[in-house]
Amino acid sequence: MNAKILDALERWRELAVSLAALLTFALLLSVMQYWRLQQRQLEDLRTQAGIVAQTASAALVFDSRDEAGEILQALRQNPATLRARLLKRDGQPSAVYTRPAAQRSRLEAWAGQVALEVPVMADGQAVGTLSVEASRLPMWWDLAQFIGATLGTLAATAGLAWLLSKRLRAQMQEAERRTRYLARFDALTDLPNREHLRRLLEKALRQDGGAALLLLDLDNFTQINDQFGHAAGDAALQATGQRLRQLCRPGDAAARLSADEFAVLLSPRPDAAALQAYAQRLQAGLAQPLFFDGHWLHLHASTGAVLLPDQADDASDAMRCADAAMRQAKQMGKDTFQLFTPQLGEALQSRLALENDLREGLMQGEFQLAYQPQYDTTRRIRGFEALARWRHPERGWVSPADFIPVAESSGLIVELGLAMLGQLRRDLDGWKAKGLGCPPVAINLSWEQCRKPQHRDRFLQQLKALQLGPGEVEFELTESLNFEDIDKPDSFVFTLQGLGYGLAIDDFGTGYSSLAYLRRLRCRKIKIDRLFVHGLAANDDSRMLVESMVRVAHAMRMSVVAEGVELDADEAALIAMGCDLMQGFGFCKPVPPAQVEALLAGSLVRPVSPAEPAAD
Ligand code: C2E
Ligand code: CA
Ligand code: CA
Repeated sequence: MNAKILDALERWRELAVSLAALLTFALLLSVMQYWRLQQRQLEDLRTQAGIVAQTASAALVFDSRDEAGEILQALRQNPATLRARLLKRDGQPSAVYTRPAAQRSRLEAWAGQVALEVPVMADGQAVGTLSVEASRLPMWWDLAQFIGATLGTLAATAGLAWLLSKRLRAQMQEAERRTRYLARFDALTDLPNREHLRRLLEKALRQDGGAALLLLDLDNFTQINDQFGHAAGDAALQATGQRLRQLCRPGDAAARLSADEFAVLLSPRPDAAALQAYAQRLQAGLAQPLFFDGHWLHLHASTGAVLLPDQADDASDAMRCADAAMRQAKQMGKDTFQLFTPQLGEALQSRLALENDLREGLMQGEFQLAYQPQYDTTRRIRGFEALARWRHPERGWVSPADFIPVAESSGLIVELGLAMLGQLRRDLDGWKAKGLGCPPVAINLSWEQCRKPQHRDRFLQQLKALQLGPGEVEFELTESLNFEDIDKPDSFVFTLQGLGYGLAIDDFGTGYSSLAYLRRLRCRKIKIDRLFVHGLAANDDSRMLVESMVRVAHAMRMSVVAEGVELDADEAALIAMGCDLMQGFGFCKPVPPAQVEALLAGSLVRPVSPAEPAAD
């Protein structure tokens, strides 16, 4: 049977049981009251008759019928009296009062009567009897009033209790409804959440018309959050939700999957061209500037799409494919659309295989560090950058450009980062044991490594456990990492600085630069990306750009490291413009720890034929 009917039946049963209990209680009270009222009527009658009997003795002794009749008058005042007789000692009536039949109601006949005899005394001797019969109707009236009042009170109480319980039940139902709602919907945007979308997807996959899944990831959401605060971020997400809902075809479903990731499920499935037009319409709609708290917010979304069931035949697959397409769209530049392709499917497979190998490799200790020295203008080594190197038993050397992004997206970068700290400790100890002093080594940090507080804690604990102090290690952060949470008091950047570690902004110029942030960060170094450095001696634009970067950094008391220095002419130009340190294949490629010993021992000019460990 339907749960609703069962619930209603159960409620009626509860109501019937409560009513029966209340009625039984009322009945019990009424029986007691009946007994009490009956006693009281009898007592009242006895008292009244006693008083009359006291005044009646003279009338009986002197046999005065008139006086006896007058005395009975007192009893006639009582409307309950039906008959009253004053009897002499021989039983003969001296006076009789009988209520006329016309004054008796039918109710009185039904109500029954009480009879009572009281002796009339004179000088301690009985001189006659007063006999009274009275109707019990007043007693019944009193009882009826009592029952009425009792039932009224009980009914009011029960009604009140019922109302209260109804309110309580309504509140419980509301709470239950809210919980059910939150299990399926996102509270900020009121859109279905990931779980709910998954169910809608499964349903759409079972239907004949097919479906299409669009995944939209906001391109610049973190920036909005950082620049304008979380209220602006929330407003941007809410506006995105609202716009998607408005832009969808009737019957299509928009959903919010995570922080800045949205989805639209189209059912039935359009063809590829119509899908692209649809996605572009959504993107154009989202790109309308949004005014919030005195600022114009500009939103853009990268969109990936998959056609169902042609390209994926279950919900998980559909999500994975749409995600791969969306990532591809992001890579192509912001605000773009990409439909899933078989090539993307293969890329997805090989990415998954790489991720598995990476996990295995971490367990097997397949990772090492290579060190690339940083030189000052006199070609003396002033520091090193530590770079992860992975030699897989079958794949051979895998480039960091391939495995670092996979490690970041899979979260394995956290373990990799900790393993690299351990490796650095061992290498430093090895050199120390040989009496070689080493300038600070810079380790690269990804945002994913310290996004979650528990990861940050593990990282800091590892630093402490390995006793890697600020004299031995520094950190390189890409710009996106720097600007993520800088204003928070527990910002990781500030925590590291508070512990005395030197920080450098990596790949400077390629990311999201802002002088205000640079000033707030107070990093020790910026590393100018090799994109600007390579060939700068021969390129006026590059030279002017790098020159101004050097000036700005120095004005903020930061030193400058030029990356990717390969040409003598570039080295000379960099020295001329005041660049502090240089790093690049022109000086030395990243080398394995054993070769660092030679560098430390000589600690001078570029080695004759530097070896890249990936090549051996
Ligand atoms: P990056 O931090 O910009 O590292 C410098 C990259 O430039 C290194 O590539 C290095 O080999 C290369 N390089 C240095 N000098 C020259 C040059 O003169 N010419 C050219 N063409 N390239 C030069 P690599 O080792 O392949 O690392 C790539 C990226 O992977 C690094 O870029 C860094 O972002 C990341 N990475 C490497 N190791 C780690 C690590 O342990 N943790 C994290 N989070 N990221 C790492
Ligand atoms: Ca770096
Ligand atoms: Ca770099």
